[in-house]
Amino acid sequence: MDTIAAISTALGNGGIGIIRMSGDKCFDILDKIFVPKNKSKKIEGYKMKYGNIISPENKEIIDEVLVSYFFNPKSYTTEDMCEINSHGGTVVTKKILELCIENGARLAEPGEFSKRAFLNGRIDLSQAEAVIDLINAKTNKEAKESVKQLTGALANNINNIKKQLMDIMVNIEASIDYPEYDVEEVTNLTALQILADVNNKLINLENTFDNGKIIKQGIKVAIIGRPNAGKSSLLNLMLREERALVTEIEGTTRDSIEEYINIDGIPIKIIDTAGIRQTSDVIEKLGIDKAKNIAEDADLVIAIFDATKELEKEDEEILSLIKNKKNIILLNKIDKDKNILKENEIIKKQKYIEISAKENIGIDNLYKEISNLFNLGEIEADDSLLITNIRHKELIKNSRNNILQAIEAINSGMPIDIIQINIKDAWDSLGEITGETVSENIINEIFSKFCLGK
Ligand code: GDP
Repeated sequence: MDTIAAISTALGNGGIGIIRMSGDKCFDILDKIFVPKNKSKKIEGYKMKYGNIISPENKEIIDEVLVSYFFNPKSYTTEDMCEINSHGGTVVTKKILELCIENGARLAEPGEFSKRAFLNGRIDLSQAEAVIDLINAKTNKEAKESVKQLTGALANNINNIKKQLMDIMVNIEASIDYPEYDVEEVTNLTALQILADVNNKLINLENTFDNGKIIKQGIKVAIIGRPNAGKSSLLNLMLREERALVTEIEGTTRDSIEEYINIDGIPIKIIDTAGIRQTSDVIEKLGIDKAKNIAEDADLVIAIFDATKELEKEDEEILSLIKNKKNIILLNKIDKDKNILKENEIIKKQKYIEISAKENIGIDNLYKEISNLFNLGEIEADDSLLITNIRHKELIKNSRNNILQAIEAINSGMPIDIIQINIKDAWDSLGEITGETVSENIINEIFSKFCLGK
């Protein structure tokens, strides 16, 4: 395989930058561009050497660096690898990368180091996916889940289930190969027991996705309300709190900035903040349909009303809009004297929280309510394995469908080779999680989401 090189640290100015190489030629390339201070000493793995990166043509010193050496198979990719620790900043790191490439390396594709770790069998696909999740984690809880998956918790779980299915398949194979022993009935009985057990395990795993999704994607919250109700004030207040996180998301929504706050370790994503902030009135300027879309897309709608105003027709529309959603109703501006809205008959029938976005009153009650609505405290405390990846969830579901078909096939006396097909399909779906049976396209798609140098 080619020797690949990339800058592994984030671009920009920083204390150090790391340029990574992996492949057969990496030490030869290093020989040409790196002059260690202590030339006499033999290079050892897992140690660092101090010296200069030079341009081989004119011997010009590019930077003073530390180089670490990793010998195959004990490296991230299982190949020979080195990491050049240079000074940070784009110019120096780019120059060193260029030298690596001019001397025989190829620029690594995004995620190619991790892809090699997977293709060379050091990690399974779910572990590789955990690497990217860990890098992208927005909260401690998300990072913790990713680390769990990175250490192989999901892979172990899946492999154990796969082994159960394999046992059935071996038995079936035997009864097909040796029909004279007439073991089919026994095989079917054991198969039914194992399949029921596998089905339960898969249901449990699949059910963890609700919480897993919340941990990974967070809760999408839309704030809606009439002009001047206090949407921006509330949003700014929430974002000003120390638990606010602002994340620039790359990928499909490259041009938008998503803002998160963190409640009980769970990212709370405020939807379309930019839109809401530019437009003082979602209902009026964007129209009720747009508000509907925003609300529909949200996991939670916060409807904010001016507590000092009468309930108007638009307010009623907002109330009917949120009726079938998880929602929180806020009566804002309670610092003012004219607190009349709560006397309204319609409002009286609602559950609401009184706040002042301006004076920072009642916001903790809002956070508490969000936490209650989504059982966030429980998720935070839960230490069991969670499915956080939709790809994994879908595959578990596919697998379970095949298990159910196999159970049905046995119960209706179908030929054993038909049952075998269902079980094999169930096994294959699980194999796609760990990467044993996954197609090249999917592998490429997964690794293309990685950052450069990882
Ligand atoms: P939006 O149009 O819904 O985004 O409302 P804004 O957040 O821009 O608020 C409209 C006006 O109400 C601004 O002048 C705010 O200062 C004021 N305001 C917002 N929240 C409060 C509050 O809790 N108390 C008081 N007294 N004024 C508020």
